[in-house]
Formats: sequence, C-alpha cells, structure tokens
Amino acid sequence: MVVVEAKALREAKSPLPHRSLFATLGRVQCPKCGERLEAILYEDITVDRCLGCRGLWFDAREEDRLRKLRGAASIDIGDASVGRSHNSLSHVPCPRCRVPMIRMVHAEQSHIWYERCGSCGGAWFDAGEFRRLAEHTPFDLFRRLFARARW
Ligand SMILES: [Zn+2]
Ligand SMILES: [Zn+2]
Repeated sequence: MVVVEAKALREAKSPLPHRSLFATLGRVQCPKCGERLEAILYEDITVDRCLGCRGLWFDAREEDRLRKLRGAASIDIGDASVGRSHNSLSHVPCPRCRVPMIRMVHAEQSHIWYERCGSCGGAWFDAGEFRRLAEHTPFDLFRRLFARARW
C-alpha cells in the first residue's frame, strides 16, 4: 500500500510522457473509426490494432522491421475492402500525438496508401495494407545480400 502511494505521488510530481500515458490508460483510439486499439506483440515488436476496423498502428519504422519477420502478415486480420474505404478519410489525427498525419504512397508499392505522423514518425495502415506490404518480400533478400556485400 505504501509502495502504491509512493508511486502515485511520484507520478503526480512528474507526469508521464504523453505516449506512455496513453499506453498506461489503454485509451489509444483508432484515427479512422474511433474504436479502441489493442496492443499486439509479434516477437519483440508491439503493434496496435483497432478492435473495430482492424487498422494497424506502428511506432516509427516498426513496419519495416516487422514486415521482414516470417509470418508477420498474419497480424493483419482485417477486411481489405474496409481498409480501402478508409483511404478516402483524410487529415486523420495521430493516435499518439493527435496531430494530423501525412498521407503517403508507399515507395515500393504505389497502391498502398497509408498515413505517417510527422511528429512521432509512426504509421497507420488500413486493414489489408500491411498484409500486402509484408507479402511482398522477394526484393528484401536481394537487398540484404547487397548490404552484406557492401559492408
Ligand atoms: Zn478503426
Ligand atoms: Zn504521432
């Protein structure tokens, strides 16, 4: 009990950073449909997935790390047609920072439209988009070999 009180006091004196405050309260909301996001752990990478539309939130550059892991596409369980319909929503806020995100066209796959936050660097993929990204891996092998050769 004493420990809990001491912790509460410490937190009151120095508020948690914005991000961990959201995580602690479990109140991260989907920028597209407003439903709650649930944290999914895949190996050592945490992804937030919407309980409503099944869109996926990645912290900065985690989508690039995750897509290289075998079977990572399995986290994208949503209906791609729902995801496509959400492409038309613009100026959606970052679930972490609340600032409007920037609409992006993926450099390798121009049919994948996603949103990136200019503040925290996180990215939002509508349902079905990450699946397509992760399944598109043949070039990764070449890229890795090439990188090794150069180093
Ligand atoms: Zn949603
Ligand atoms: Zn952000």
